[in-house]
Amino acid sequence: MSYPIYPTLPHDLNSPIHPVSAMDYLPVAPLRALQLHRLQWTVKWAYERVPIFRRRCQERGVRPEHIQTLADIKLLPFSKKTDLRDFYPLGLAGGNMDETARFHCSSGTTGKPICISNTMDDILVWQNGGMRCLAMFGLRAGDVLQVSYGYGLFTGGLGAHYAGEGLGCAILPTSGGNTERQVMLMRDLGVTAIACTPSYFLRIMDEARRQGVDFRRDTKLRHGIFGAEPWTTEMRDTIERETGIVAHDIYGLTEIAGPGVAGDCSHRTGLHIWEDHFYPEIIDPETLEPLPDGEVGELVFTTITRCGTPMIRYRTRDLTRLHTEVCPCGRTMRVMDRISARSDDMLIIHGVNVFPGQIEAGLLRVPEVAPHYQIVLSSTDTLDLFEIKVEVTAEAFSDNIRALENLRKRVLDAVKSIIGLTPRIILVAPGTLPRSDGKIKRVIDNRTK
Ligand SMILES: [Zn+2]
Repeated sequence: MSYPIYPTLPHDLNSPIHPVSAMDYLPVAPLRALQLHRLQWTVKWAYERVPIFRRRCQERGVRPEHIQTLADIKLLPFSKKTDLRDFYPLGLAGGNMDETARFHCSSGTTGKPICISNTMDDILVWQNGGMRCLAMFGLRAGDVLQVSYGYGLFTGGLGAHYAGEGLGCAILPTSGGNTERQVMLMRDLGVTAIACTPSYFLRIMDEARRQGVDFRRDTKLRHGIFGAEPWTTEMRDTIERETGIVAHDIYGLTEIAGPGVAGDCSHRTGLHIWEDHFYPEIIDPETLEPLPDGEVGELVFTTITRCGTPMIRYRTRDLTRLHTEVCPCGRTMRVMDRISARSDDMLIIHGVNVFPGQIEAGLLRVPEVAPHYQIVLSSTDTLDLFEIKVEVTAEAFSDNIRALENLRKRVLDAVKSIIGLTPRIILVAPGTLPRSDGKIKRVIDNRTK
């Protein structure tokens, strides 16, 4: 058994809108009605099939029939990443094994991984979200999509793969690693789009430079589909300036689906959420009360068409806001701000809350700085030692001590103006800091906790 209705809008063949994008423009009133119908179905499904959810509802005196409006979602209990660990492996699953089509798992920094079971319909919903993102980015049948996200338990590789395949793109499933070959294949096979983490694309840019490959002159690459780690607008601008591609932002998480939950349109107002499948809320992370659209808080998702592992009011730990304005592109699906800060990534340095993205934004406002940096924190008795190592571009790197010292001061001023702290800035030669084949680790925290 699965979610009984999977409507698509009738498509006008003369419309310039790609058929897969028709739902993006569903008028708000029927969209809210559809969401309510799907939410009611989901709550009933989870109540019947997931004992932990049922018990938590019973503790609150909530029954599925109490969900009469979308606002009634606030009656339901939250779920968190720790639930997926505490009830490892499949305590939150709603589907039986004979309905399960595929598992995905994501490893945390400690302890057991989280496991998500998906039915075939869940996989198709996820693929639909990915296809709508790629169509919104401007990809079409005939594009050649290099998937350099890792394939496997991680949702990045397979998510981008099936999204591109569904749209009719030619897929080059390179996965991560072997960067020298990635650049060669990109050029030789006329790749027009690449999907990977932004930090891995930086590595590909390095390798292309090493091989003397100019993206504009020697490749057909036009689109970068970047996600799976926070990245700043400054990083996006740097990538676009150096390669001439358009860097699109795709958002997703294994707990909810994978890449394709949300993405940015050409107006770049933020990321449109496919809220006909993934219902968003913003809550105050302290009081857990829902916040109105426009206010910044923690992003919470409820899957409203998923059977395998229905996630109800899942706290993502991502901080953002939902826009109140309608996007000029005409899509009715609400827009959230880009995620450049995750609450899990917050550092407390000298008592000040600092997000790595703030440091990245400051560094990349200095043109002579390359997009490679490392934040190192260590303790010396009571004082935190706060260092930022940052690479200088090949053009700006020289033996001129005075010029470098001048640059170092400008980098310090740029960072200080954002975070209000005075880190020790260490300029390093191009190509000396670690690169990544997947998600990069830019913060080294050696402080004793
Ligand atoms: Zn838009």
